[in-house]
Order: sequence, then C-alpha cells, then structure tokens
Amino acid sequence: MRYFSTRGAEQLLSFEETVLTGLAPNGGLYIPERIPSLPADWEERWRDYSFQDLSVEILSLYISPSEISHDELRTLVDKSYSTFRHPEISPLKQLSDKTYVLELFHGPTFAFKDVALQLLGNLFEFFLVRRNSRKGPGEKREKLTVVGATSGDTGSAAIYGLRGKADVSIFILHPKGRVSPIQEAQMTTVADANVHNLAVRGTFDDCQDAVKALFADTAFNARHRLGAVNSINWARILAQTVYYFLAHFHARRAHQLPQGAQLQFVVPTGNFGDVLAGYYAKRMGLPMGKLVIATNANDILARFWRSGAYEKVDSAPSPGASDGKQAVAGVRETQSPAMDILVSSNFERLLWYLAYEEQGASADDVARVRAACATVDGWMRAVKVDGRVQVPTAVLEAARRDFVAERISDEQTLETIRSYYGSSPSYIADPHTAVGLCAAGLVSPHNAPSTVQVVLSTAHPAKFSEAVTRALAGEPSFDFAQDVLPEEFRGLLERERRVEDVPNDIEAVKAVIERYVGDGRAAVEKGASV
Ligand SMILES: *Cc1c(COP(=O)(O)O)cnc(C)c1O
Repeated sequence: MRYFSTRGAEQLLSFEETVLTGLAPNGGLYIPERIPSLPADWEERWRDYSFQDLSVEILSLYISPSEISHDELRTLVDKSYSTFRHPEISPLKQLSDKTYVLELFHGPTFAFKDVALQLLGNLFEFFLVRRNSRKGPGEKREKLTVVGATSGDTGSAAIYGLRGKADVSIFILHPKGRVSPIQEAQMTTVADANVHNLAVRGTFDDCQDAVKALFADTAFNARHRLGAVNSINWARILAQTVYYFLAHFHARRAHQLPQGAQLQFVVPTGNFGDVLAGYYAKRMGLPMGKLVIATNANDILARFWRSGAYEKVDSAPSPGASDGKQAVAGVRETQSPAMDILVSSNFERLLWYLAYEEQGASADDVARVRAACATVDGWMRAVKVDGRVQVPTAVLEAARRDFVAERISDEQTLETIRSYYGSSPSYIADPHTAVGLCAAGLVSPHNAPSTVQVVLSTAHPAKFSEAVTRALAGEPSFDFAQDVLPEEFRGLLERERRVEDVPNDIEAVKAVIERYVGDGRAAVEKGASV
C-alpha cells in the first residue's frame, strides 16, 4: 500500500514515509492509494477479537508486510495499548434502550487522543531505531524533535505518546498559568529526559506563534528537523478506525443487539479526524448508518452540511445560537475547548473522496485521481484566499449520503450533562461527549426504529472539571471528588514538576531547544509531524 497527497498524486510514498512526513510538501494530506475492502470472512473470523487483535488485522490492510511484518505490528500494537487502564481499551456502555457510549478515554491522559498517539509514538521509535541500526559506526544518528503548542489537551496526549522513546525529543509550549491545573500537572509531572515542558509567559496564541516561527526559521528547522503536533498524520486516522469495528462486535456480543439492528455513530468533532476514521471504516464495509458530526459553536462543518459552503467565518447570524453571540472573526471559546477550531484540517481528506466521486466512473482511474487532486487544490486555494469555497450541489448531496451534522450550543451542552446525570443509569459526561449526546437526541427522531446510536465519548469528565462542575452545581447529591475524580488524579497536583519558565520571546525558546538537542544533530531527511 502506498500513499499520495490530496493536492497532487505524482509522488507515491511508503507508509513509513507517510508517517514521518506528516503534511505533504504541497500542503495536502496523505491518503491511501485505495481503500482496502474487508476479507470475505471478516465478520465470522473477527467476531471475538480483542481491540489489539482487530488493530493488527485492520492496520495490516494499510501497511505492506515488507514495511512492518505481522509480528512487528503485533508487538507495536500490544505495546501501545498496554498503557490503557481498561482491558477492553474502548468499552461500550449502554445508557438507554437506543443509546450507547463508546468510552475512548481509558488511556494515560484520560482523553481519546491517546488511542492514536500511543501508537504513533511507537511507530516513530520503530522507524528511527531501524534507520539508525542500518548506519555505519561513524554516521550520525537520525533524530526527531517534535515541537508543539498546547492549551492543555493535545500536549499531554503527545507527551505521553513520546515519553521515553529512543531518538525522539518533544518540546511542548503552554501559556504559563493559563492551562487548567489538572492538565498542567499531567504534562509537567512527566519525568522522562526526552520530554520538555516550556511555560511561556504569554497566551496560547503567543505559544502557537512561537512554534510557527520555529518552523518558518529555515536554518533552525534544517538543523533540527522539527516535527509538529497536530492531527493530520495518517497513522492517527488509521489507529482510530479500530474502535468502530470493536463497537460493532461488542454491541452484538455483550449487549445482544439483534442482527437487524443498525449502529449509528455520533462523533464530537473538531479537526474531523475521529469522524473521518469512521468514514474509512464505513467505506471498508463496516455496516453503519449515517455518521453524525457533532460540533460546538465552532460550526464550520455543520454550516457546510447546511449549505455546501466551506467557510472559515460565519457570514450569517447563526440560527440556533442560543448563546446569542454573533459571528466573530476567530475561534469561539466554548465549554468543549478541544473542539474549538476555525477550520477542520482533516476535512480535506473527505473533500478528496467527494471530488473523486464527482468525476464519474466513466473516466479512467488515473485521470479521475488527477482531476480530484486538482479540484481539491483549487478548493483549498479558495479557502486560503477568499476564506470560503462553495462546492457543487452534487458534491453536497454526496456528502449528505454518509453524514449528518448538528451544532450544539454551550447551554445545550451543560443541559445535556445535567440530564444524563439525572437519568437512570446516571452518567457523568464530559462536555465533548455531551455535545455528542445532545446531537444524538436531535438526530434520533429521523432514524429507523432499528437504529441504535453509539456516541463516542472523547474525554473523562475529570479532565474538564470546570464545565462538569458548572453543569452539576445545583445537584445536591453531586460530589466532584467522589463521583468524578479518578484515583490517578489524586495527589497529581502535589507531585514534582519538570517545567522551564520561558519569556515570550522566540530566541529564548530556541535557546532552550538548542541546550537539549543542539550540537549538530542529524535529522530525519523527510521531517515528521505528530
Ligand atoms: C481532539 C478532541 C476532539 C475532536 O476530535 P477531532 O478528531 O479533532 O475531530 C473531541 N473531544 C476531545 C476531548 C478531544 O480531545
């Protein structure tokens, strides 16, 4: 299996090159040269498989055995999910007759990004160690320096994915004093020598600007070959397809779902990575209803499915905006901050498949692929230049065949947390999961009676204590420490920290990186990104 960029298919990359490169040099995202279909006996053979068994089967459809052998893949997968606290990795829980949650937060940082980043960290290490083992005695080792900015969530998942990995260092910038205490403690109590937390005296935007400046500094980048922390890496999407399959089997095995029942996955969505993994699962042949995209007030996707316009900033007053906020030229801060985005980077991958379909089956495949890349390139150029693109009606209709989208306000989010807390069984949802649960409720009246909804639960409620506490403040029986706080978080705030204070100044940030990984280090030729 090889991969090419959504904006031009001239170059075909191996899986290794795809994972180490991250973003294509032409600005596009890598996709597989074809979507593999499932083996004929998949449903029979995979029925009792564990998460890890399924992961090996599915990943091997996308990775040539000449690149990673079956045994090596098994080792990588087992190692990646050994850090999870739940034996099923992503357990499925029933909340009502027709509603389940798929809990994806049982990894080291209590949020769903662990599912992908634990594997990605091990893939990086596997590739680098293999490259270095082929080097002669005098040759420089290839190393990778991952640099990223975080407002809390992604940073800790990346740190836990890369901690202790050979030949990889990670530098995470966070705004000093502006990250939630739990998230700050999660990041800064990691003691591994290759992990570096930089507390920048500034805002999150300052951190992000500093990271951008580092990447733009060609001399610095050439010396260190930096990798970025973001969700466009193909390996992250691939890792996430697995739990859709697990839920399919688990619903039938543990919950005796009738044969004729159809699952509908509801996915709290920001950068479109998680729900895109569901789309790949669907295209591979996993039976499911339309995927539900659940957004918060940052609703570029919900607006696209309404109008076919992919538009950075809302140009019309948004209906259903119960928070009464008018369109503002920027990201809106919500109660579900991990989904506060202006554009959804992985959406470009779906656009490619829509553009490909639009070509019609009559054209030969090479011409179709070329035309789809050119179309996507044009659309993304329009978004960059004009801030928007309008796709043809046929493309919007194709998008509506596989997806529905709902926008959920903060008020609805908090109300949903309250309502699930008060129902039987009582369930405490984090605000992102609540966005999904609320969207599920809006969509379900339109579903066939045999449809059962599975809402992806993307974070543990303790991680977003502010929203949960605010929602449940009026509940006399609610006790955060007792009902929500996991054992692992107790005492976390008192544990020893490893963090370096840095002024809001790019030269100071550079100096810290130089200090740890300087001295003319070798670099990965292709660069990399998390
Ligand atoms: C990242 C994140 C999301 C959004 O996932 P995407 O793949 O970006 O759509 C949702 N919830 C939580 C808790 C997250 O950390």
